[in-house]
Amino acid sequence: MVHFVGAGPGAVDLITVRGQKLIASADVILYAGSLVNPELLSGAKPGCDCLNTATMTLEEVVARMARAEAEGQTTVRLHTGDPSIYGAIREQMDRLDALGIAYDVTPGVSSFCASAAAIPAEFTLPGQSQTVIITRMAGRTPVPEKERMSALAAHRASMAIFLSAGLLEELTAELVEGGYSPDDPAAIVYKASWPDQKVLRCTVGTLAETARQAGAARTAMILVGGFLDGGCERSLLYDPGFTHMFRKGTAPDAD
Ligand code: SAH
Repeated sequence: MVHFVGAGPGAVDLITVRGQKLIASADVILYAGSLVNPELLSGAKPGCDCLNTATMTLEEVVARMARAEAEGQTTVRLHTGDPSIYGAIREQMDRLDALGIAYDVTPGVSSFCASAAAIPAEFTLPGQSQTVIITRMAGRTPVPEKERMSALAAHRASMAIFLSAGLLEELTAELVEGGYSPDDPAAIVYKASWPDQKVLRCTVGTLAETARQAGAARTAMILVGGFLDGGCERSLLYDPGFTHMFRKGTAPDAD
């Protein structure tokens, strides 16, 4: 059996209880060493074969899983954040399907959630935005044309932009082309939840300059949108006048 496990954004206590138990029971752990906190491996049992996949190909990763399976062993495939976001797990699952190897997925705390927590901010503010756009700039890996940054920016929803810390000038240009003003709020969250986390508040127009001054290069989340400024209408859910399934409101039209 292969367990895909979300390692969380970095802090060792931000993995799920289930993920931690799976690590403790694994015979083989294949971890994405570029971003997964290696301290998580201290919970592995003695003799567990822990392999950093940063230097491995998909074929090598799957071959190791298949060998473990043939030997009746349990494998944990540890991905940073949540495996469903830029985790490249689909291609692994497809090959495991072809080989008839069973697997499951344990979710994790994605870095976009850890970045909001670092601010701290709420993506979905009443009257401001009720939508979060998770995306990335096109780099060496292309992004479908229908999802180009300027088209997504036109929604002016809350945005969490992954994998783009090296493309901040281009990002600003696309956001502005899409309708943001250079003065609209933005933030760079570097290594959210790690001991050396940095939160840099800035504007759409100053993203590149802010990153340069702070020396924040890799492993950064870019947040964009009015939600960063706070200030919102209050929610109906906790409004005294509003009736819902669990509470009767005081408004005259409440039934
Ligand atoms: N599956 C992961 C994302 C992997 S892609 C998740 O759910 O978070 C790698 C990108 O994620 C990085 O380029 C960066 O944009 C973001 N990232 C990962 N960990 C981060 C962290 N601790 N702080 C800020 N951004 C992070």
